[in-house]
Amino acid sequence: REAAARAARSAASLRSPIVCIMGHVDTGKTKLLDKIRQTNVQEGEAGGITQQIGATFFAKETLKDKVAVLAQEAGLEVRLPGMLVIDTPGHESFTNLRSRGSSLCDIAILVIDLMHGLEPQTIESLNLLRSKRTPFVVALNKIDRCYGWKATADGSSRLSLQGQDGATREEFETRAARVRMELNERGLNAELYWKNEDPASTVSLVPTSAITGEGIPDLLLWITRLTQERLTEQIMFMPDLLECTVLEVKAVEGLGMTIDTIIVNGALRENDRIVVCTLDGPVVTSIRAVLTPPPSRELRIKSEYIHHKEIYGAMGVKICAQGIERAIAGTPIMVIGKDDNEDDIKEEVMKDFTNVMKMDLDT
Ligand code: GDP
Repeated sequence: REAAARAARSAASLRSPIVCIMGHVDTGKTKLLDKIRQTNVQEGEAGGITQQIGATFFAKETLKDKVAVLAQEAGLEVRLPGMLVIDTPGHESFTNLRSRGSSLCDIAILVIDLMHGLEPQTIESLNLLRSKRTPFVVALNKIDRCYGWKATADGSSRLSLQGQDGATREEFETRAARVRMELNERGLNAELYWKNEDPASTVSLVPTSAITGEGIPDLLLWITRLTQERLTEQIMFMPDLLECTVLEVKAVEGLGMTIDTIIVNGALRENDRIVVCTLDGPVVTSIRAVLTPPPSRELRIKSEYIHHKEIYGAMGVKICAQGIERAIAGTPIMVIGKDDNEDDIKEEVMKDFTNVMKMDLDT
């Protein structure tokens, strides 16, 4: 499998984009994530989805399946090797986490309740996204609550809308127009995604229902498009440039001390010598194991982590190593290459660390 992954990697020049979800409480963030994550056990595709560390990874094939109802019509060729969806909704600190000065989050989904429009935390999220210059799409959620809604489970919301009765469609149009106006009042142009001719300056609204699953193909398709067509520079895969950020230090029975990380870019290998930022200064250690949780289907059964000889960004990964107890969340991990000077790398890591602290003070 690793050989296949390597082959796929060298053929593609893009890494998987990192997607996070934000929005006001009760807009349906958790439910939407659940629905997006849902494995289609019937078709036995569970292998394509892996529950990661605080994130879910969709392999390319799974992503293609999920957008299939629309992709052909849209003439979309999926060029991403996958998509890493961060599943800590409302985790503002995640959006705040930065790697080498840029946000870990490549693109955000801002969830707005179609019935409620903009709410206080929606506005907070908007401000945060703008200040970090993070591109985002709006999921206009709970469309199934429009009166008389006829659902097509897991279908395209654009197509579903076409099939609604006049009055239902009218209710949707009225409510969507209100959200558009509220965004306009905040200085943002917004348009339903299929009418959006200028995604660079206009926010796309994607109607969704986390209950019926409608709009999830539209959402994933649109994000795939935006990232692979417009963020290519940002998500260019760099095999030799490790970008990896510490999320959390955890003791795990049988594994000892571990750190949960997000590899944004580059590769990490078993036995790599790394520098980790700790409260006691930089620590040089070797990676004893690179782990991901098992595919989600097996999660209910208490099963072992999967060991990797080598893993590529973007990915959520658990690392086992000695001397990492006091690692600091939000700091980078760097690999010491065979031509590298250990002290230089240490210095570089600590410089990044100081920047992280400075940035925290700034925001
Ligand atoms: P969060 O606080 O943003 O994570 O919101 P939740 O995912 O917990 O959802 C809040 C409530 O809204 C729950 O009762 C959900 O069942 C409900 N809900 C979420 N999405 C939808 C939707 O698309 N349609 C309807 N009718 N209800 C929804």
